Amino acid sequence: MPPAHPFDDDKLKEECGIFGIVGVSDAANFVALGLHALQHRGQEAGGIVVHHPEHGFNSARRFGYVRDNFTSQSVMETLPGPIAIGHVRYSTAGSKGSTAIRDVQPFFGELSMGGVALAHNGNITNANALRRELIERGSIFQSSSDSECIIHLMARSMGRSIPDRMEEALRKVEGAFSVVAMTRTKLIGVRDPLGVRPLVLGKLGDGWALASETCALDIIGAEFEREIAPGEMVVISEKEGVASHFPFRPQKPRFCIFEHVYFSRPDSIIGGRSVYETRRQIGVELAREAPVEADLVCPVPDSGTPAAIGFAHESGIPYGMGIVRNQYVGRTFIEPTEQIRNMGVRLKLNVNRALIKGKRVILVDDSVVRGTTSRKIKEMILDAGAAEVHFRIASPPTAWPCFYGVDTPQREKLLAATMSEDEMREHLGVDSLKFISLNGLYRAAGEASGRNDAHPQYCDACFSGEYPVRPADMIDQGFQMKAAE
Ligand code: SF4
Repeated sequence: MPPAHPFDDDKLKEECGIFGIVGVSDAANFVALGLHALQHRGQEAGGIVVHHPEHGFNSARRFGYVRDNFTSQSVMETLPGPIAIGHVRYSTAGSKGSTAIRDVQPFFGELSMGGVALAHNGNITNANALRRELIERGSIFQSSSDSECIIHLMARSMGRSIPDRMEEALRKVEGAFSVVAMTRTKLIGVRDPLGVRPLVLGKLGDGWALASETCALDIIGAEFEREIAPGEMVVISEKEGVASHFPFRPQKPRFCIFEHVYFSRPDSIIGGRSVYETRRQIGVELAREAPVEADLVCPVPDSGTPAAIGFAHESGIPYGMGIVRNQYVGRTFIEPTEQIRNMGVRLKLNVNRALIKGKRVILVDDSVVRGTTSRKIKEMILDAGAAEVHFRIASPPTAWPCFYGVDTPQREKLLAATMSEDEMREHLGVDSLKFISLNGLYRAAGEASGRNDAHPQYCDACFSGEYPVRPADMIDQGFQMKAAE
């Protein structure tokens, strides 16, 4: 399994990437490439399921990176066929931090009308209640994952086809879900009614692909056709092409705004917008909202880079790589010793002393979660001789946990949940600290008039505390929602 790194503890983590393809020879190889492009969405484990007319369903599920598992001939030879789906995971539901192989997706079930495999990105907010009920009625769960509920709900459905059963199952599920699934001949893609998590459709020759992000279509040379709409189910077969259904009650979409800030790759397209361009625009908005006199704008690599470019451009302050990232650290220290672990972010980031010395530096980062990394980076910059350190953050204060498929610390661990902006500045020990406003973020994401407070255009619960889907399981466990204002 790839090593946990101290730097990664201080970021929100998207938990899953999904990919599926039909109508190509050696579908598993395309899935492996697609998952490789989605590796940023989950590094703990990955899995692929295929179907071949003669060899039936086959699967491989492994811990670790896609490139370390699904490039070997001995593994890929076991995965023949023209239709396949895959999944990369960072655990949210299920065995967090200590994934068991039984929790690695895709999940497979043999129903009366044939087999079905399923991979899920998101989080089912009523999974505990569903699971309890299913177990009481005789279901035998194989994993601790919330996603397995969908297969059991399908098994109990009286629907005549697998897509019918999936529709019925998903109507009982609350929360955020983008799903790719497959039967022997059909590839199925579904997004929850709010469209919280992404899912896109691509075309490759006579074949079709579904992916969490467009960057996974690019890597296989597929044409981006369109996003799967919120609440849409597509059923795709080689012979009949794409059939679209809308099985849920229509709702106003609430896509995850944090995908724009951090989760998605900057070379992906979301909602018709380049993620890179949105991040650059966040930097422009930040420079307008929170100007400061300084000599240098530096990104905290890599995710702060586009916003730092935008900030520098708008403010006229020179941009420079004041912090350099070591790309290979994760591969070098497979089992870090205590002494190495204590070096913290220095393993991954180093300061470009020649550039920093004597300068008033603006550091642009994507978010502040616990604040541990921000403090260490500030120390490194001051050690290198900076005259002043100003933090500019490309998201509003993260004060609430996400229950829709993103790993967040408990609320008490989020710096912004317990401190005001001023207290955070003092805690981090920087000369100034400013976050982009929620309205500024919405403007950067293409909403010219900012956030519509009556009907927000995005999910922004981790900033606002306004959850578009009631997190039922968490409330049962004692989570306190924000009091109505
Ligand atoms: S709570 Fe935050 S991270 Fe989670 S889906 Fe909503 S915007 Fe995204």
